[in-house]
Amino acid sequence: MTDIHGDAIEQAWGGVVATARRTAADGLVVGTSGNVSARVGDIVLVTPSGVPYDRLGPDDAVGVDLEGRQVLGDLAPTSELPLHLAVYRCTGAAAVVHTHAVHATAVSTLVTEVPLIHYAAAMLGGPVRTAPYARYGTKELADGMLAALRDRTGCLLRNHGTVTHGSTLDEAYDRTAQLEWMCRLWLTASSVPGHRPALLTPAQLRDVQDALKGYGQPG
Ligand SMILES: [Zn+2]
Repeated sequence: MTDIHGDAIEQAWGGVVATARRTAADGLVVGTSGNVSARVGDIVLVTPSGVPYDRLGPDDAVGVDLEGRQVLGDLAPTSELPLHLAVYRCTGAAAVVHTHAVHATAVSTLVTEVPLIHYAAAMLGGPVRTAPYARYGTKELADGMLAALRDRTGCLLRNHGTVTHGSTLDEAYDRTAQLEWMCRLWLTASSVPGHRPALLTPAQLRDVQDALKGYGQPG
């Protein structure tokens, strides 16, 4: 294994650990479920398998190349590594967040696409799809996820959780938080007996996407 200690790597690892801790602190994962990664050049820094995030320090950095070969650290990378690498190979993403957030995971068992309950879907590139179920860590899951992510920055994994990506860790994290919030909103509105929530039309969502393109930041 190569010993790599660039500033960029150190900084990115600090970001990966901070983001992973945030997913736990914000209740998006329980224990060591879920995982976070960031890409620096041809190296992907990724949370290790089975180590509580509050125990990860600067010396615990885990890095792999885009083929999954470990190039940094001794701890084993997350078992969801194929999912992270698939995103980096097929998009320009610099960060990936995977969680088992409860509302989003609940919705993944109910729909193949998250109903357009709120224009926040525009921040994820459009209606959020659910990838078919496949066992964690498999190529089948990664392939299904890539199809669900086409033209999107986030998707659900059926009976499993969420995946979002972004150009920074903060962006990827925020997309996960928005997705979880939107799923919670739909579940809340759908649970009122005798009522069905009004939904946006695809045209209304496209209108929001156009507005976002014009004004840069979502409102
Ligand atoms: Zn998972």
